[in-house]
Amino acid sequence: MSFLNAEEPSACDLVTDFGLNILWHPSLGMELGDNLIKLLRDCASGSRPLDILVFEGTVVNAPDGTGEWNRFAGRPMKDWVTDLAAAASYVVAIGDCATWGGIPATAPNPTDSVGLQFLKRAHGGFLGRDFVARSGLPVINVPGCPAHPDWVTQILVAVATGRAAEISLDEFQRPKTFFTSFTQTGCTRNMHFAYKVSATEFGKRKGCLFYDLGCRGPMTHSPCNRILWNRQSSKTRAGMPCIGCTEPEFPFFDLAPGSVFKTQTVMGVPRDLPEGVERNGYIKVTLAAKAASPAWAEEDIFVV
Ligand code: SF4
Repeated sequence: MSFLNAEEPSACDLVTDFGLNILWHPSLGMELGDNLIKLLRDCASGSRPLDILVFEGTVVNAPDGTGEWNRFAGRPMKDWVTDLAAAASYVVAIGDCATWGGIPATAPNPTDSVGLQFLKRAHGGFLGRDFVARSGLPVINVPGCPAHPDWVTQILVAVATGRAAEISLDEFQRPKTFFTSFTQTGCTRNMHFAYKVSATEFGKRKGCLFYDLGCRGPMTHSPCNRILWNRQSSKTRAGMPCIGCTEPEFPFFDLAPGSVFKTQTVMGVPRDLPEGVERNGYIKVTLAAKAASPAWAEEDIFVV
């Protein structure tokens, strides 16, 4: 569904401008029933070339490793994943479930779910850590809950136009072009972060969401404030904390009561600090920032 909202480029642009032939998609695919099964079998056997397998959703292994709890086109979905991943030139995992297992893989993980090549932070996943597609590349992970539609289409264009080798991946096989900077990069609340002015309610324009509402923007790798949603906004711009959904640990603290939208602290200091910041350094910087805070930092400066 996120893919259908893409704008730069759009799903239509992929077909008309970049020559992609979308063989099948849950909402766009024409084949149903036996015709779909034949299409998938042809792709798996190689009689129909499969350039890019784009997989969304977790891989369900329950019960007892059979995958019978998630059947698709006449057999366990996991068996299609095995066959199609072996046949595809490139494999792209979209969203947290396909990349790391996502919410279904959260303990106690009753569906025995895994991502394609990771289970949370552990390398391996369903296909195994040594898996590479026919092109020689491992699974390209585009996480997010959901993944931004333009991250999806821009990666597909890069692969389809022969520039896949230029896609540099980080340690979690995420394209560095999207997942090196932080959600905080480009956030309109950075000055409130700097002067430790806190927002304590959702939807307010003033204040940073880090100090009370659990914003994970300083330790989450995503371009959410560079490549905006619907070209105009983001969670933090709308007054909603970043929940860290592009990181393997999402959902953080396993959704324990009291851990959602609430900054977890140890003796008054946030338990999770901005990446690379030490606790003592954080205390010194925030004390100085509070003391140096100008009067306007306490005002709503986004006056219409
Ligand atoms: S902590 Fe969150 S709200 Fe505050 S500046 Fe960073 S991204 Fe924006």
